[in-house]
Amino acid sequence: MVRVQGGVMAAPVRLKSILALVTGGGSGIGRAVSQRLSQEGASVAVVDLNIKSANDTVQTLLRDFPGQDHAAFAADVSQSESVNALMELIQSRFSVPPRVAVSSAGITRDEFLLRMSEESFDAVLNINLKGPFLITQAVARAVVASGHNGGSIINIGSIVGKVGNLGQANYAASKAGVEGLTRTAAKELSKFGIRCNTVLPGFIATPMTDKVPQKVLDKFADMIPLGRLGQPEDVADVIAFLASDDSKYITGASIEVTGGLYL
Ligand code: NAD
Repeated sequence: MVRVQGGVMAAPVRLKSILALVTGGGSGIGRAVSQRLSQEGASVAVVDLNIKSANDTVQTLLRDFPGQDHAAFAADVSQSESVNALMELIQSRFSVPPRVAVSSAGITRDEFLLRMSEESFDAVLNINLKGPFLITQAVARAVVASGHNGGSIINIGSIVGKVGNLGQANYAASKAGVEGLTRTAAKELSKFGIRCNTVLPGFIATPMTDKVPQKVLDKFADMIPLGRLGQPEDVADVIAFLASDDSKYITGASIEVTGGLYL
């Protein structure tokens, strides 16, 4: 279906009546994904460690898409108790399991390998890799338990997981792991009609990249064939496609959203 506004073709509405869960929904890519899925007609469970930021995202959804139901939830995706409690809250709030799940929660703890602490390696792996594992497992279990198969799980990896990056041994390892996790989930969950794909952003302008010195960002921008850093909406557009039936024959794939960057 396509929304027509003032005679102009507007964005398609491909997710009408679908419940979507978005982790890291309080910031950057997760916020843009929440907005894009909502624009496509979905109700969104916006999940973040930072409940204030998740609430702020929900306020933008209720303002821009008032006919739909959205809610914010606080959860730590690296803790199974927190993810299990989250799923119970979502089930009782919306009465259905999420059919679309996007794992966008993530952190960086950059340091050169020779100086990297065990603590910062574990912290990045726990949030960036164990988090998508727990969310993928919990959402798939909820869909299977509902007796109504079908769904789309989208995990956010990174181009860095493919090619490595100075100072990011922990981050690159976590993001390479996300691809392996998601490809395996795609094979195991296809019999339940659940597709699983990874999106690999390049350098996207968000609070995460705000921490990177400007001269480093300028250097990367020069290396991007499309000539600019990405915007969160560039990633959200691809995720909306993967969430929708327009990608019904795609599973186990990794899609780069990098402006052509290959480090
Ligand atoms: P961001 O820092 O703007 O947002 C990340 C969100 O995750 C924050 O709201 C944070 O509170 C939340 N979060 C952190 N730990 C959490 C936890 N344990 N449980 C729940 N929520 C938690 O970052 P972003 O740039 O929007 O990144 C989103 C995803 O995209 C991340 O997985 C990141 O690794 C990936 N990515 C980003 C870029 C980029 O250039 N920005 C590039 C490649 C991949």
